[in-house]
Amino acid sequence: GSTIGILGGGQLGRMLSVAASRLGYLTHIYEPAANPPAEHVAHRLTTASYDDLTALAAFAASVDVITYEFENIPTAALDVLEKTHPIRPDRRALAVSQERIAEKDFLTGLGLTTAPYARVTSLSDLTAALDHIGTPAILKTTRLGYDGKGQARIMAPADAPAALAQMDGAEAVLEGFIDFSHEVSVIAARGLDGSVACYDPGENVHRSGILHSTTIPARLSPSQRTDAILIAARILNALDYVGVMGVELFVTPTGLIVNEIAPRVHNSGHWTQNGCAVDQFEQHIRAVTGWPLGDGSRHSDVVMENLIGDDIARVPAIAREKNAALHLYGKAEARAGRKMGHVNRVK
Ligand code: ATP
Ligand code: MG
Ligand code: MG
Repeated sequence: GSTIGILGGGQLGRMLSVAASRLGYLTHIYEPAANPPAEHVAHRLTTASYDDLTALAAFAASVDVITYEFENIPTAALDVLEKTHPIRPDRRALAVSQERIAEKDFLTGLGLTTAPYARVTSLSDLTAALDHIGTPAILKTTRLGYDGKGQARIMAPADAPAALAQMDGAEAVLEGFIDFSHEVSVIAARGLDGSVACYDPGENVHRSGILHSTTIPARLSPSQRTDAILIAARILNALDYVGVMGVELFVTPTGLIVNEIAPRVHNSGHWTQNGCAVDQFEQHIRAVTGWPLGDGSRHSDVVMENLIGDDIARVPAIAREKNAALHLYGKAEARAGRKMGHVNRVK
């Protein structure tokens, strides 16, 4: 086949499209929002909603394989798409990453460690969960959260009603607060033939719940680094996964704790664009099209910094720096908290 269908036309869809194009593929992007970042690099764009099953069927008929840049694809849409073509990564990967409780049940079922967690639908659930898990804790909506949205910190039991109100009626999960020393992530890939390749773990710093920077290499002992990669490989193999996945980990004195997984290319993997011969975007395209996985070994140390909101005003200065590779997403409006681009500083 020669056309890759991508659900989602944000910056991840844009960079996937560029990588696909470099390997000789055409891309067809499906994106409900007008003027998406992927618009000018995709070969075709369908701007229709995920409720428009006719548009979805036409999209599926025009492509050879379907992948995605975000995990919240509605089930009814998947039913239509799957009739025509394989979706890679498949529905099981979506099911365990769309919903935080299913995700933690899956991870703990593999013998991996997560934060202690409990389902919360009412104030009495929350009070009982706090008795059990203790404070500090974090209440999160089970679905649709990203960049720290849909989360409330609970420092003391008295904070419970306000935290629950912030969930706005959505089902939630209470997580015990992990006292981590730092956060790392593994960007892992698995091919159609079952082979697995992991990039070197990166160290992530968040500001106001949004990824600020990723530094490669991460501060990890050799055994922690091996653990991180084995954890990622175990997750991908258990799902018979095809594609790139981001695995977020907390580093603690007693071991690595899995925060969450993302069944797609990941912001903390953007450093690979300037640190490796084959970056995460090409790796994902290779995996979903059945190519052999590429060489993801790191040829350079990199610090990736996200350019968020007004940071975009720093672009002229960054453009004069040595060894700084800019990646801009072509977004017209620099709203607060909006990811406008990133810079990879090669060391
Ligand atoms: P993403 O944009 O990565 O999908 P998200 O909205 O799904 O983010 P999380 O990754 O769950 O949110 O949380 C965002 C950040 O909040 C984490 O990277 C970590 O810094 C902090 N955090 C989340 N859960 C916990 C926890 N249980 N203990 C300590 N810190 C936490
Ligand atoms: Mg998340
Ligand atoms: Mg996260």
